[in-house]
Amino acid sequence: MHGFSKNCLEEYQDQNIMTTNRTFTMLKPDAVKKAYIGPILEQITASGFRIVAMKLTQLTTADAQEFYAIHKERPFYNDLVSYMTSGPIVAAILEKENAVEDFRTLIGATNPEDAAEGTIRKKFAASISENAVHGSDSNENAAIESAFHFSGREQF
Ligand code: ATP
Ligand code: MG
Repeated sequence: MHGFSKNCLEEYQDQNIMTTNRTFTMLKPDAVKKAYIGPILEQITASGFRIVAMKLTQLTTADAQEFYAIHKERPFYNDLVSYMTSGPIVAAILEKENAVEDFRTLIGATNPEDAAEGTIRKKFAASISENAVHGSDSNENAAIESAFHFSGREQF
């Protein structure tokens, strides 16, 4: 071990899992392909979010099916899974007071045509299906989605 007692490590991991000031995001394959990682992260950090975990990764079909399982009866589900596995994504955990709600405001409506001026989707999304960025819709889902992508040791 690394000089940490087991209790210490568990306490640290519990703190991460208990926090409510965090949200989970993915910069989706279209945003990564168009070299929008830099400008989107710039807008996120300039808006007061601290990056507490981040990686470039690619979802497997099983990952995407599980992540979007809530939409499995929707007509766009198969296209959504194909799209989300079509290239690398950036997965990240963000920290800010009221993170979930404030991040949803920052990204804007699902359909970029309906998104407010200045929002990330308005600026960077191509369409309702290729909409540049994901944001968790509740504290509970933020915790589930964060744990899906990152171990406790990868969260700072
Ligand atoms: P996300 O969960 O990715 O942050 P969201 O919460 O704004 O997006 P959801 O309703 O959860 O929207 O839909 C998940 C994703 O499915 C959307 O981001 C989009 O990529 C895709 N999607 C949603 N509605 C449609 C639709 N009508 N046609 C095509 N794709 C859609
Ligand atoms: Mg959603």
